[in-house]
Amino acid sequence: MKKIMTLCILLFAIISNNGFTKVIWDKNKNQWYDTRSGMYYDQVRKLWYNPRTGHTARPGGYNSSNNNSLNDNENKNSGSAQNTNVSSSLNEIVNGFNQIHRKYGVRVHYRRFRPSRYARRYTRWQYLTNADNVKLKKLGKILIRVFNKYPVDFIRKTKLRAIALVKNMSVQGQKRGAMPDAYGEVLYLSTSIVLSYSKTYTEHVIHHEYYHMIEQQFNGSMYYKDPRWVSLNVPGTRYGRGGMYMRNPSIAWKKHPAKGFVNGYSTSAVEEDKAEVFAFLMTPDEYRKVLKWMRTDLVLRAKFNYMKRFLYGKSKEFTESYFNRNARLN
Ligand SMILES: [Zn+2]
Repeated sequence: MKKIMTLCILLFAIISNNGFTKVIWDKNKNQWYDTRSGMYYDQVRKLWYNPRTGHTARPGGYNSSNNNSLNDNENKNSGSAQNTNVSSSLNEIVNGFNQIHRKYGVRVHYRRFRPSRYARRYTRWQYLTNADNVKLKKLGKILIRVFNKYPVDFIRKTKLRAIALVKNMSVQGQKRGAMPDAYGEVLYLSTSIVLSYSKTYTEHVIHHEYYHMIEQQFNGSMYYKDPRWVSLNVPGTRYGRGGMYMRNPSIAWKKHPAKGFVNGYSTSAVEEDKAEVFAFLMTPDEYRKVLKWMRTDLVLRAKFNYMKRFLYGKSKEFTESYFNRNARLN
C-alpha cells in the first residue's frame, strides 16, 4: 500500500513540476518530504507545505500561499461545495497559525501534540479531528485576530511556547473552556468557548487566561497576592470568602458591581481581579465600557493605570495610544 502511495505521489510530483522531484518518507515526521522544494505533505489538509516559509501547495503545482488557485483544485477534487468552503478557509486559518509562529515564535497546535507533565496530570481533553473543522475555524479566526494585537517583544518575554486548541477539556473534573499551563508554557483553549459565548467573550477568555501566565512569568506565581494592587482598593475590601461573588454567585458576571471592580468575579481573588482588568483592557467592547466607568470610579482608574504601567514596563509598545487605538477596534 505504501509503495503504491509512494508511486502515486512521485508521479504527480514529477508531472506537476515538469521535472525531477525526489519525494521521500520522513520517518521522524511521519510525512512525505520533497527534497527539492523542501515541502512536506500534510495528510490532514491534503496539501504540501513548507514549514519554514509557511507556503502551501495543492497536488498539481507548488506556489506561494495563493488560496484562490488552491480553491480551484479543491473544487475539482472534492465535488462538494460545503466541503470546499470548510477546507479552503481552513487553509487560511492554518496560514494564520503559521504566521503567528513566525512572528511570535508561538506554535498553534490544532491536532495531536506533546503535552507537559503538568497538563497531563491535571487536565483531560480530546484532540480535534476533521469533524471539528467548523469549530476550529471559528476559534482560529478569533485567535488570529486577537493574538496579533500583542507586541512581539512582550510575547517573547512571557516565554509562551504554544497555544493548544482542543475540545471537551476539564481540569480536575471541572469543565473548562481554557487553561493556562504556565509550567509547559502552553495556553489551552477549548472549542467550547466559541460555541457557548459571544466573540467578545471568547476574546476576553483568551486574554484572561493568558494573563495568569503573564503573572507567573513576571511575578513568580499565578496566585501572586500583589500587595500594591490590594492597596488600591477601597479600605476594608476583602477578596475570596468575603467577596460578593462568594456571597452571591448570581452577580458574578454583573458588570461594575462596586467601586474598583469590573464585575463580581473580580472580587473572588486578587489574581482574578488582575486577570479581569487585563482582559477588559485588551477587549475593545469592554474597554469602551471601562472608559465610561472610570470617569467617576477613581479606584478602577488607579487599577487600569497600574496595569498599563506594568505592561509598559515590559514592552514600550503598550502606550496610551495603543490602548486607545485598540478600544476603537471591531
Ligand atoms: Zn482566572
